[in-house]
Amino acid sequence: MLVYAARRRRPIVHASNVVQCDGPNSPHAFDIIPLQPRNGTLDAKCPICKGHGQWNTEIDLVSFRCKRAVCDYCKGAGWIETGNDPVGHADIVMSPNGYPQWVVAFEPRQDPEHAVAGPDAPLSPEQFDR
Ligand SMILES: [Zn+2]
Repeated sequence: MLVYAARRRRPIVHASNVVQCDGPNSPHAFDIIPLQPRNGTLDAKCPICKGHGQWNTEIDLVSFRCKRAVCDYCKGAGWIETGNDPVGHADIVMSPNGYPQWVVAFEPRQDPEHAVAGPDAPLSPEQFDR
């Protein structure tokens, strides 16, 4: 029964249908990714990840195994600050007794598309001519 033996040694093949996602606009970018719960201090769904905080870079449409990328724009929160409130993020500081400690650090909102140079920002070439 040579044929039978050969069949038994055949590796088990799992069906798969892996698709690549180029970014948050890909058709399957948000498959099986839940919306992030809104943090009370944030104002609006992130325009990039639409509230998911991350997206698939690759997903198998059969097994739903996936690789994901975290959204840089909202740092994975799924929500953004639209006003001028500072935005909190997790940070580590050294506590007074010498141990590292998790804290929530607050920084002014970072918005790369509408950035306004602060007083401490380096001068741009146009400013040197004044
Ligand atoms: Zn986002």
